Amino acid sequence: MSRENPTPLSDAEAVSAAKRLHSLIDERASALTRELGPRITCHLGCSGCCRDALTVFEVEARLIRTEAAELLATAEPAPPGRCAFLSDAGACRIYEHRPYVCRTHGLPLAWLEEADDEPVEVRDICPLNEAGEPIESLSSEHVWEIGPFEETLQALQALATPDTPMLRCSLRQLWPGCEAGPLEPPDLALSRVARDVAFDDQETLSLSEDQASYRCTACHETIFIPIDRTEGPHQEFIEDCPVCCRPQRLLLTLESDGSFHLIAEPS
Ligand code: SF4
Repeated sequence: MSRENPTPLSDAEAVSAAKRLHSLIDERASALTRELGPRITCHLGCSGCCRDALTVFEVEARLIRTEAAELLATAEPAPPGRCAFLSDAGACRIYEHRPYVCRTHGLPLAWLEEADDEPVEVRDICPLNEAGEPIESLSSEHVWEIGPFEETLQALQALATPDTPMLRCSLRQLWPGCEAGPLEPPDLALSRVARDVAFDDQETLSLSEDQASYRCTACHETIFIPIDRTEGPHQEFIEDCPVCCRPQRLLLTLESDGSFHLIAEPS
């Protein structure tokens, strides 16, 4: 394959590549878990991180659609509010094929935010894994850096779906009957790329008349929320990101033509 003008990956190639990337992620995450020792209390049945509205790049969605085809065709999603892939017993029904974000559940996370135009590192960890050395004093080798693997996934996605390199969907939307409108029509996905560049991810776009998404300012996950048009044209509310739990101040403006703007700010 020419590196200058790569041929788009087939579905099968994209799925294989995503699996190889997951292996690398597991290798790193397992080593980190071992190094952190008993403070990592994650175990089967603890599903506090398995919240609804988690989104994945299309390339990981393809992997799950392929590997969990039978489950998706024959089983029911978990009730809204929990990840659709959780079992009644609180176990992941696609554990082997779970997406990248799930493979870092429970680890101390580090990411960069802007403060006075300067990048500042922010860290967080599941409260259940808080005990032990303060995460602020952990060495950089002992925290999971948010960014590099996301960039790799995004690059992989660009090779798999060059026309819609930012296409994402929620895990719930993988289930038949849970589509809740279009996942992300290509024209909107393309406009998202432009918006990401132009508005630094803050401007969001409509997926359907009653659903919007925003990019969490902390963990950068795309979060889907329902729109309640009965609450007036200018709405402001605080919502915890369902992925990283950071509070987000959401400013929603409904236009008379039915369109809307949703902006997320750190709260
Ligand atoms: S895919 Fe599995 S690990 Fe990930 S949030 Fe859902 S149930 Fe939890």
